[in-house]
Amino acid sequence: VREDTERTRVVVIGAGQAGLSVAYYLRRLGLQPGSDFVVLDRGPSTGGAWQFRWRALRLGTAHRVNDLPGMADLGLSFETADRSAPAKDVVSDYYDRYERFYDLQVRRPVDVRAVDEAQDHALTVRSLDGAGLPHFLDTEIVVNATGTWGSPFRPWYPGRDSFAGRQLTTAEYTDAAEFAGQDVVVVGGGTSAIGFLLELEKVEAHTTWVTRRPVDWFDQQELGVEMGAAAVAEQDEAARAGFALPSIVSGTGVPLSRRNRAGIDRGILVEHPMFTSIEPDGVRFVDGTFRRADAILWATGFRPELRHLAPLKLRSGDGGLVVARGASQSDPRLFFAGYGPQASTIGANRAGRVIARQVLLALSTRRSPSRQA
Ligand code: FAD
Repeated sequence: VREDTERTRVVVIGAGQAGLSVAYYLRRLGLQPGSDFVVLDRGPSTGGAWQFRWRALRLGTAHRVNDLPGMADLGLSFETADRSAPAKDVVSDYYDRYERFYDLQVRRPVDVRAVDEAQDHALTVRSLDGAGLPHFLDTEIVVNATGTWGSPFRPWYPGRDSFAGRQLTTAEYTDAAEFAGQDVVVVGGGTSAIGFLLELEKVEAHTTWVTRRPVDWFDQQELGVEMGAAAVAEQDEAARAGFALPSIVSGTGVPLSRRNRAGIDRGILVEHPMFTSIEPDGVRFVDGTFRRADAILWATGFRPELRHLAPLKLRSGDGGLVVARGASQSDPRLFFAGYGPQASTIGANRAGRVIARQVLLALSTRRSPSRQA
């Protein structure tokens, strides 16, 4: 055991909606933040992935953002938040107040690089701090709440590396102004792609929208309750079976809101089937037509960020993790908050309650390492 190894009972990796919700319930169930459990987050500031999203994104343009548990005690609600302010600022500010109110003592920026086996059936969380210095934390339980933002998915197409222009993913998009007057191919059938197309219109970019499947428009402002439930059930089934998770968009469809309908009427939201190859100056379609492009914007979704768990060799033969109700089915020391069916702000909230209870149960059946000496 390294001398500089710190000890705790539970480490929560990630302070987004899921990690904060878990921390809230752990505290409520009697664990002390900062000693019994430690929350680590890579981001420089509060807000989880929201702090990195593009400035033009507003609360309520995509789906509903649910309040964190206990947020009402601070007199805060996303329902009444300023919808004209960037979502990234509002969420970062609310999370900041929440963390302070509940004294959650999140440590940041702390980048978890690996979770390894340690002595006595414990786990070691290896991380780097903001100065690049290593830190070692031994723990009985790890709750992984790292979201997906750090793992954008970009499908492969022939010629992808020959493209002379700029290629970027949703995670790298910051401002439409960078594309003023340019030819931009936007790939993806979800709300992010649609948001980009409507923003690029304002800077007079010439956009081409391509999707792998026809967009499943539905006639409601909000995520349809039934469609949402079906998508969550699909995620749950995959997680329990250990399959790679299906895309959320494929299950939920896209709301035909007034804004989107107007975009269709103006001829901006016109879907084309996917191109078949990429050339240095643009993209080629199956019928041989060519579209010039200065940039290709891949709004093609994300995958769970799990690289740091590789040493534990958790992946099933089918490429996913076997997770039920947020608990790993192959390792009782591991929980996944915000994974699969929990990957929405409401799912993340529920994850907090369900996981915290299971963590307490797991701890009660183990001896504390600090009492072992
Ligand atoms: P995150 O918010 O991503 O938090 C994970 C945290 O873990 C981050 O702070 C990250 O820095 C940290 N982390 C990751 N890896 C490490 C590591 N190795 N070491 C240390 N820290 C690490 N959902 C809704 O319900 N409503 C919406 O309107 C909505 N809009 C969305 C818009 C976009 C563009 C996207 C991509 C998603 C949207 N979602 C929305 C889904 C949304 O991401 C989730 O609902 C929720 O915010 C995710 O919370 P989370 O805690 O799981 O993840």
